[in-house]
Amino acid sequence: MTAMIDLVAFDGDDTLWHSESEFAVTQQKLRSLLEEHCDPAELDARLIDAERGNLELYGYGAKAFTLSVIETAVELLGDRLTGADVRAILDIGKELLRHPVALLDGAAEAVAGAAEHWPVVLVTKGDLFHQESKVARSGLGDLFSGVEIVGEKDPAAYERVCRRHGIAPDRLVMIGNSLRSDAAPVLDLGGWAVHVPYELTWELEQADDEAKVRSAPRFRELGSLADVPALLSTIATD
Ligand SMILES: [Mg+2]
Repeated sequence: MTAMIDLVAFDGDDTLWHSESEFAVTQQKLRSLLEEHCDPAELDARLIDAERGNLELYGYGAKAFTLSVIETAVELLGDRLTGADVRAILDIGKELLRHPVALLDGAAEAVAGAAEHWPVVLVTKGDLFHQESKVARSGLGDLFSGVEIVGEKDPAAYERVCRRHGIAPDRLVMIGNSLRSDAAPVLDLGGWAVHVPYELTWELEQADDEAKVRSAPRFRELGSLADVPALLSTIATD
């Protein structure tokens, strides 16, 4: 059962474990913290602008998020922002980093099912340290032949992953929740993309051309991770 597949890759955040829902809870805490100083809608809008502007310098993840929150708060409050406010923001950011890893339903079975037949890797972006700690705490670490933490999920990054594992990109299957980061670049390289949507999508993960991604011949969508092993068998014998 290996005909068309040489490597199976999973995304981590919002594919194997919850992430965006935790950011949403964190953002709610920040709104409450700063509500007497600024309108929640304005806080959200300014924060997403700051995150977008800082991506190139800070990359992805909870630490970058925390720095962008501080920047936004300074912009909104100016000198009214107190040391206590900054401390509270840092504490909220640390809580996000310490948050237990909560696997999505079917995650362990999907990874184990794939690992029975093919080498399986995790491809994720974000803080190196935080992502490694999440892999360790997920209990799935031993199932992966490799953990690839990349700065940006673009075609070049996936190409490097394929090269490192000695496989052709058209024999890669990538499974993830983001059309923009997990599906589009892999389809561009001729690989297979399996989209398993999450209940929330971060604004900066919206695909530019969703219709194009969805109409690619090697694009598949699943409602549940539980269906991953069966779909892989189908792809392998295609
Ligand atoms: Mg994700």
